[in-house]
Amino acid sequence: MTSFRDLPIRADLRDQEPYGAPQLAVPYQLNVNENTFGIPSEVQDRIQARVRGILPQLNRYPDREFMELRTKLAEYLGFGLSPKQLWAANGSNEILMQLFQAFGGPDRLALSFGPTYSMYPNIARITLTQYKEVPREQDFQLSADFVVSAIQEHKPNLVLLCNPNNPTGTPITREVIQAAYEAFDGILIVDEAYAEFAEELSALDLVANRERLVISRTMSKAFAFAGVRLGYMAASEAVIDAVRIVRLPYHLSALTQAAALAALEGKELMLANVEKIKIQRDRITASLRELGLRPYASAANFVLCAGFENPQRTFQELLDRGVLIRNVGIPNTLRITAGTEAETDFLLEALGDCLG
Ligand code: PMP
Repeated sequence: MTSFRDLPIRADLRDQEPYGAPQLAVPYQLNVNENTFGIPSEVQDRIQARVRGILPQLNRYPDREFMELRTKLAEYLGFGLSPKQLWAANGSNEILMQLFQAFGGPDRLALSFGPTYSMYPNIARITLTQYKEVPREQDFQLSADFVVSAIQEHKPNLVLLCNPNNPTGTPITREVIQAAYEAFDGILIVDEAYAEFAEELSALDLVANRERLVISRTMSKAFAFAGVRLGYMAASEAVIDAVRIVRLPYHLSALTQAAALAALEGKELMLANVEKIKIQRDRITASLRELGLRPYASAANFVLCAGFENPQRTFQELLDRGVLIRNVGIPNTLRITAGTEAETDFLLEALGDCLG
């Protein structure tokens, strides 16, 4: 069979592999930071009703500007954001992709602080944008001075700050975001995929008078809606208008829009388990410490833990017991998603077994 590498594919893609974590049908799937509580039945009913309502019109293209959804997202976020300051796409990955398409490109540099979300370099590559990842400070922290001096040194066109950071869980303060914004004249993207799990304030209110600031959000994590693929951002109308140049027409299907509207109607139910997940996250952190490991403080729904002598072996031994977690490739670490109390019970028991 012809390999894709034998085709006249772009030279810079020839040595790549498709990105993605393992998808395995095991009982304990704690590897991609989903909300492991299911969809409440009341919300399932709402989704069904909304979707049924649009079935007769599926012969038509969806609303290309999806103003109803943007209005509901603006109401959900608050802070006086207007519908025209909201935009949505198929997951926040697509939001990031559209931002890179509009503001990146071959003569542009994107800067971030690693270890961080591994799709940033991937999206940079796909959009032919140069990418620089500056190693974080002690314990993966970021201070305003550190970020500002990296921006001054590298002169990026785009800066990505993941808050809280994946895969480390590290939160950053608003002062860091404000200082980063002042330090350059490019686009600052704050990726708040996990913001609902953090005690720190979101930077959403900073969008009001900062036309180059973008807050990226997703319904995939706290909102328990990963399967629907709904990411969104809040930014100035000018940023949204720029993204409207690069988006494919009708990128957001009518089914996605209907499901997202139903989920927003049931937002209290969808977000009801966030506090329970935070309790499990803190319990996992405390238990890992008792096992003699070194978990990093997390403001998200997962814990990165150091101190594993052989992380790949522990990963495999947990998998043999039906628990799938993530080896993100940081030496001696593994990352674990916090789920239900029962999942944590099983995980901790299994991990105790593995470590003997
Ligand atoms: N940003 C961060 C930091 C993430 O961890 C993820 C998912 N792993 C995403 C964005 C993308 O999520 P989605 O496309 O499901 O919104």
